[in-house]
Amino acid sequence: KPKSRLTAQAYIDGVLSGSRVILSRAITIIESNLESDKLLAKDIIQHILPASGNSIRIGITGVPGVGKSTFIEAFGKHLINQGHKVAILSIDPSSQRSRGSILGDKTRMEELSNLENAYIRPSASGETLGGVANKTAESMLLCEAAGYDVILIETVGVGQSETAVHGMTDFFLLLMLAGAGDELQGIKKGIMEMADMVVINKADGDNIQKSEMARLQYQNALHIFPQSDSGWSPVVTKASSTKNIGIDTVWDEIIKYKQLVTDNGYFYENRNQQKIRWMYDNINDELKQLFYGSKDIASKLDVLKKDIISSKISPVKAAQKIIEEFKESF
Ligand code: GDP
Repeated sequence: KPKSRLTAQAYIDGVLSGSRVILSRAITIIESNLESDKLLAKDIIQHILPASGNSIRIGITGVPGVGKSTFIEAFGKHLINQGHKVAILSIDPSSQRSRGSILGDKTRMEELSNLENAYIRPSASGETLGGVANKTAESMLLCEAAGYDVILIETVGVGQSETAVHGMTDFFLLLMLAGAGDELQGIKKGIMEMADMVVINKADGDNIQKSEMARLQYQNALHIFPQSDSGWSPVVTKASSTKNIGIDTVWDEIIKYKQLVTDNGYFYENRNQQKIRWMYDNINDELKQLFYGSKDIASKLDVLKKDIISSKISPVKAAQKIIEEFKESF
């Protein structure tokens, strides 16, 4: 049976005091599509905003089967041993909570999920990437306000969601496998280009030598890309998530990165740009929704499409005409 809603203040106080139960319930409000919950969500976010941001945000991607959840389990435990509080969120626009999503499934990180200082939340479900990304980014702010100082945002390395994760994180980690074909395993060049670090996972057993070869190969491949504004040169390392080898190196590199970009100012500059971009992404989505969601526009578009096909009107003129009519409707 559904729990009754708390007051905004109760959510805010609960999150700020670090209550996991209230944090979960607040994220449920963030994810809700009910109009009344949306209002409540805005109120909660507005009030926790000053307490957010005190973390390192790490994006993690890689094709299914590369070992993301196994890696996160090992990495998360390492971080907690170092005294950190770790929140794990995921972006998977295809996920429907009821059907079970590819990512963020609690049972995949069983030991980690039982630790006091780990918080694991599966992907929000929703039709649009923009909607899911909004919900994940706001959930991240809530986790930070609740005292989580390392945020891991996981996504599957197959689509547009990497760009969304890259747009809300400080450091982008790509997991790869050795010897799975010379082609970059279906990982698009654009995703390679976003990586601050590539980890060749499953570097154990018979795989060790192949992994070292792959490491050198990817290290060379990354040199081709132009230097990032961060001043950081991406590193490639090997790891075994099951044998817990090379996991500490990943964190050591992230600490080096954080130091570099804090010193050169990129850390906050990048976060500021991300916030502004986040606003524009929302404006763009809302404008499209306003336009294409209008029944009047839809029926006018139907007429225009016929006129374009019969060469009564040019596509450019048709676009201008409908935008003019849209403007007049205000
Ligand atoms: P995900 O789909 O990317 O989350 O991948 P999983 O973490 O579910 O791992 C897929 C499979 O690879 C599982 O059977 C893991 O046990 C295995 N695996 C993950 N990491 C390693 C590793 O470092 N070495 C070996 N040998 N197997 C691994």
